[in-house]
Amino acid sequence: MERIPERALGVHRVLDPPGVLPQAAHRLDPSPEIGPDEVRIAVERLNLDAASFRQLSEACGGDGDAVRAAVLGIVRERGKMQNPVTGSGGMLIGTVDAVGSGSPLGLAAGQRVATLVSLTLTPLRITDDLRRWDGRSEQVPAEGTAILFARSIAAALPDDLPDAVALAVLDVCGAPAATARVVERAGARSVTVLGAAGKSGCLSLAAARAAGATRLTGLVRDGAEAAALTAAGLADRVVVADATDPLAVLAAVGGPADVTVVCVDAPGAEHGAVLATAGGGTVVFFSMATSFSAAALGAEGMAADVTMLVGNGYAPGHADLALDLYRRTPGVRSLIDPRVRSASAGDPGVR
Ligand code: NAP
Repeated sequence: MERIPERALGVHRVLDPPGVLPQAAHRLDPSPEIGPDEVRIAVERLNLDAASFRQLSEACGGDGDAVRAAVLGIVRERGKMQNPVTGSGGMLIGTVDAVGSGSPLGLAAGQRVATLVSLTLTPLRITDDLRRWDGRSEQVPAEGTAILFARSIAAALPDDLPDAVALAVLDVCGAPAATARVVERAGARSVTVLGAAGKSGCLSLAAARAAGATRLTGLVRDGAEAAALTAAGLADRVVVADATDPLAVLAAVGGPADVTVVCVDAPGAEHGAVLATAGGGTVVFFSMATSFSAAALGAEGMAADVTMLVGNGYAPGHADLALDLYRRTPGVRSLIDPRVRSASAGDPGVR
């Protein structure tokens, strides 16, 4: 097996504790000077992952100034954006502004890119105090620098889509890829998506359909989301329930599905997801608010023979798959576009 050099994983940027990989580190060195195998990005916009943003907003009582101060504090302390409560991050877009002579990423200065590695392991320095952000949206206009390692991945930003849309779609591009893979491998027919009217949820429904699933159920929070998902035409059945109430989920979905995909951004959806899944079926936990112990012990306690997958944010081809689903599925656009508008409201820098 190919041996990955430690530097390629960014271990040389870890300040505390020594010896761990950047994702597990408490603190990274975000200094802008690059090594020969690194790439520096001039940051334009961050996308905080939905679970992290929800947690910060709730903890700050919806006070945008407090949310901004919290994000700035995390990045200053940790040299990266990793919410200490959810453990999650997000991703960013920007322009390549320096490329080490030995970088294998094939990037060139001046190229506009989205990083497809998590902010939880990306050395990040913010230089504008986030003064263009009101703290009320997942998307954060920002100035500063970010560092990519030899093993990082980045995608050129598409010319045909607004930056804010590309950022939102690419942030969750692991979800449709994981859904498509599970549905294809299992030959699954029925799929239930919890949080189906959100960004990752609607992309997962579209991916399941494209992968051959024929009975799609979308579970949403309330009547307004139900109306939007019904109009989008992505699911055969739309049901309303609180995904964190397992018995309500079971009652709403009725019969269990071969595959359940958890795309809510709130904690507590593990037990409902297990109950919604047929014996021998698979649950994909894409949500960053998932608890391993709640999922594992809950399934054990229900004697549920289900395979449970952590939604890996990476799969080969995941960015192109998600962008293509967005481009060719009007129902996906109808659900994602309003979220993007509100996530970038009032930001004059948005393209
Ligand atoms: P999103 O667009 O905000 O969608 C989440 C959806 O879940 C929304 O429709 C939300 O409804 C709904 N929801 C929240 N609580 C609910 C409840 N109790 N019952 C029913 N529905 C509920 O979020 P997203 O960007 O798709 O992200 C979804 C999750 O994926 C987040 O946890 C995020 O952190 C995670 N994520 C994972 C990865 C990975 O690599 N695995 C990468 C990126 C993001 P409202 O809008 O009404 O609140």
